Amino acid sequence: MKLKEYCGIVGVYNKSEAANYVYLGLHALQHRGQEAAGIVSTDGGQFYEYKGYGLVNEVFNKNAISSLKGKIAVGHNRYSTFGDDSVANIQPLSAQFDMGKIAVAHNGNIVNANIIKTELVKDGAIFNSNSDTEVIIHLIARSQKETFLERLKDALRVLKGAFSLIVMREDALYAIRDPWGFRPLSMGKLDDSIVFASESCVFDLIGAEFIRDINPGEMVIAGNEGVKHYEDVFNEIKESKCVFEYIYFARPDSYLWGKHIYSIRKKMGEVLAEESPVDADIVIPTPDSGVPAALGFSQKSGIPFDFGLIRNHYVGRTFIEPAQSIRHFGVRLKLNPAKDVLKNKRVIVIDDSIVRGTTSKRIVKMLKSVGAKEVHIRIASPPVVSPCFYGIDTPTKKELIASSHTIEEIRKYTTADSVAYLSLNGLKKVVGESGYCFACFNGEYPIEFDK
Ligand code: AMP
Repeated sequence: MKLKEYCGIVGVYNKSEAANYVYLGLHALQHRGQEAAGIVSTDGGQFYEYKGYGLVNEVFNKNAISSLKGKIAVGHNRYSTFGDDSVANIQPLSAQFDMGKIAVAHNGNIVNANIIKTELVKDGAIFNSNSDTEVIIHLIARSQKETFLERLKDALRVLKGAFSLIVMREDALYAIRDPWGFRPLSMGKLDDSIVFASESCVFDLIGAEFIRDINPGEMVIAGNEGVKHYEDVFNEIKESKCVFEYIYFARPDSYLWGKHIYSIRKKMGEVLAEESPVDADIVIPTPDSGVPAALGFSQKSGIPFDFGLIRNHYVGRTFIEPAQSIRHFGVRLKLNPAKDVLKNKRVIVIDDSIVRGTTSKRIVKMLKSVGAKEVHIRIASPPVVSPCFYGIDTPTKKELIASSHTIEEIRKYTTADSVAYLSLNGLKKVVGESGYCFACFNGEYPIEFDK
């Protein structure tokens, strides 16, 4: 098991067939979560919901989408980062309380959820799910404030950690980013409708116009009175955007926090080429995650780019493995070496990151098995040395190869001829010095956690 993708969220306000647009949006965000998907919609009175396990197109069919009535809808693609696999954990989570109905879609991980939950349970609260998101609903329902807005703010102020949220009520959508701004959330416009989505690639797909990112600590409401925004929800903003979004998670065609992901990744490859050059015949990517960085590396170094590994794009999440184990089955299923490209070549193979080191090790073997003369691993991010507590389900510190191995030890483990990573300074040169969480690379956590 390695790091897992986290979640993608989409909300559409004031659009006929809102659920259909949300469904399309979830398709665009499939890379952020493949375990389950759900949509909740409202026609102003009723809430309609449909959820299930699997990819977006496995979960929904035409009937399901047409059962989701109304002009407001919110959807979620999930990879569990907290809680188990039970259906009750599939988002958006919806509930009824004294002020009406509510549905919540959450991307991130609330680090003090256990503490809050223990207190609530002591106080008589009953939880349906064991997802950290449900605490938000309880906090809203229990707040003594008079208006929904004040109750929501009250609840949000208790939370610590990563929470990009879309909250739906019968007549409005609320989009919120935590004061650290760990996870993305942006706003777009489609005719008279407002769209919120984890990434801007959603807007491209549904023909919406990208307006802007929601700011860290900001709440934007799309409702009867138009679009309103509040910057007074939290006392303090401590911007710590997840830099791993730039490195691996977000889609390369998305614009995030003012930057185009593709260009950022390419630049990382360029800086890597400057920092750790090596004589070789070809530069190849680990597809798809290494492609932009490999192009950057190739262009900077002048070493030709080629596809030495061919990816099977049709491998689903589930497959049946033969009882008799096949060597390297896992990686072979996804990647196969292109013999003619590699034979007798000195190869630089670029990937975006190393987590446990298993992929790199298998790739080196694969490349050498078809006659690559030398294999040089270049990684377009710094060594991952610390687990993430803000929405990425990382393996434990022990399992992160770079937390306990030197680069030379990693080279030996992978059997590569050389290994080099982008330096943290190099990364900062590309994305900027401040405003990011670099905890997975330097262990400096912006907030404590209670795991
Ligand atoms: P590993 O084999 O554990 O070293 O995993 C490294 C590979 O996982 C690289 O090819 C990365 O592109 C990919 N990767 C990095 N982060 C994640 C993640 N959060 N989820 C899935 N794959 C990832």
